[in-house]
Amino acid sequence: MKRRDFILNSLLLTGLTTFSSFSKVNVNNNLLDKTMRSTMNGKFELPPLPYPYDALEPYIDKWTMELHHTKHHQAYVNNLNKAIEGTEMAGKSLEDLLKNVSKAPVAVRNNGGGHWNHTFFWNIMKPNGGGAPSGELANAINSTFGSFENFKKTFFDAAMGRFGSGWAWLLLSNGKLVVASTPNQDNPLMDIAEVKGIPILGLDVWEHAYYLKYQNRRNEYIENWWNVVNWDEVSRLFLQNK
Ligand code: MN
Repeated sequence: MKRRDFILNSLLLTGLTTFSSFSKVNVNNNLLDKTMRSTMNGKFELPPLPYPYDALEPYIDKWTMELHHTKHHQAYVNNLNKAIEGTEMAGKSLEDLLKNVSKAPVAVRNNGGGHWNHTFFWNIMKPNGGGAPSGELANAINSTFGSFENFKKTFFDAAMGRFGSGWAWLLLSNGKLVVASTPNQDNPLMDIAEVKGIPILGLDVWEHAYYLKYQNRRNEYIENWWNVVNWDEVSRLFLQNK
């Protein structure tokens, strides 16, 4: 693993762990937040993609990845910074913003969610990923869903069933594995989420995530996406947060 990848993985992981035990830790130790906030000017920043833009070919094409990261994700970061600038929200952690998002302007919900979701999404994919989970996560998936294939079907249905733009999630909710979906850039960390918990796997089903290569065929995008899932990372998130 490259050093940059290791740092991103470690920080994201630590941040999620910190969030899961929010009341027990010093918020200043929230490292997910530190990866996203410049220490120079207090603004959120676009984290580097942990692999090259063409690394997920042929399942996700280079042009889609480049636009998705440099245009879409960057826009969420820029608009989040604009939305919090000069308000009492400036200086708060991203997790803090999300867990109190019902009290924030819709721009914070959309762009704060967009920033968190995409940072998470890049990290739970990798080149030469796919296969199946192992160890404790595999056991938990089997006992919750009956089999890995049943889990994939449940997740596929959640991703296909999300009308319009949104996300499908595998999350830990009160210690249990649950599949859910959210509209737009909402996520299970938000206080307004129908199903709340800690995401350990997520799939962007906005058309911008697949339209260039798959056009209207969201089903093909979902089926192919399993080939780039970083199960090592999903497993680590599971073990850290269960
Ligand atoms: Mn997206």
